[in-house]
Amino acid sequence: MHDRDGKIWIDGQLVDWRDAKIHVLTHTLHYGCGAFEGVRAYPTEKGPAIFRLREHTERLFNSAKILRMKIPFSLQEVMDAQKEVVTANGLQSGYLRPLTWLGSEKLGVSPKGNKVHLMVAAWAWGAYLGEEGLKRGIRVKTSSYTRHHVNITMTQAKAVSNYTNSILANMEATEDGYDEALLLDASGFVSEGAGENVFLVKDDRIYTPDLSAGALNGITRNTIFAICRDLGVQVVEKRITRDEAYLADEAFFTGTAAEVTPIRELDRIQIGQGSRGALTEKIQSAYFDIVHGRNPKYSEWLTSV
Ligand code: PMP
Repeated sequence: MHDRDGKIWIDGQLVDWRDAKIHVLTHTLHYGCGAFEGVRAYPTEKGPAIFRLREHTERLFNSAKILRMKIPFSLQEVMDAQKEVVTANGLQSGYLRPLTWLGSEKLGVSPKGNKVHLMVAAWAWGAYLGEEGLKRGIRVKTSSYTRHHVNITMTQAKAVSNYTNSILANMEATEDGYDEALLLDASGFVSEGAGENVFLVKDDRIYTPDLSAGALNGITRNTIFAICRDLGVQVVEKRITRDEAYLADEAFFTGTAAEVTPIRELDRIQIGQGSRGALTEKIQSAYFDIVHGRNPKYSEWLTSV
């Protein structure tokens, strides 16, 4: 991934992709205190546009605040950096990765005295859980790893360190032949996927775990709320048990990378008809209309680059 042409924005400058390097004594590399975002740009009639750029950038600043890191750029500067990176890499669509980290001035757990850095990279990236997954649905395994408790790591920060838990869960599930993991919270209630929020459909209503289960406040999750309001479908945020998930009519994951990915099987138990459900398909199609600029009601969620 490092050996390619292109530009990466680092601390206010566009740097050649191959030269975008940091020192091995970088504090974040040792102790994991850093935050990032995952953002997507889509092709629209007006050219490439970044979906919900402001919300993603605000969440990056909120993550940094929770981690007691002060990003040395304004919100506007970080939004402009993301636009610049899409243009500089000649992308019509793609995935954007802003990341803030602590420098290599000194080591020791205390980050005092370490500089806060920021970078933004962008590259072409297709369906995170596969094109086939978007159409047919994926197979999911409940993880043996518990999702973070709300007072162990900070679950509303998209913190670098939170993802060791996601990596363990994803590796366990995929090495067992599944596509993705579903994690439960410390009390055994459904929390989220390794990199996705989860939704269930039951009797024409939609259910998703409330955020006290340690799930990230996903921007796609919020977009689904808007889509459901438009469709006249009620969304209930509540504690969800594992057996409720088994008995759902339909289920799907959401995320910037995963978009709206149906779940056809959980722990080898078929969900509903074992394929993409009718309501899931409706929501997925509404989602793709919005991100591609085909629904004027949400045009303010798209920032042309
Ligand atoms: N939960 C986790 C753990 C994630 O990594 C993501 C992806 N950012 C999400 C949920 C979904 O968030 P969003 O819709 O904002 O991408």
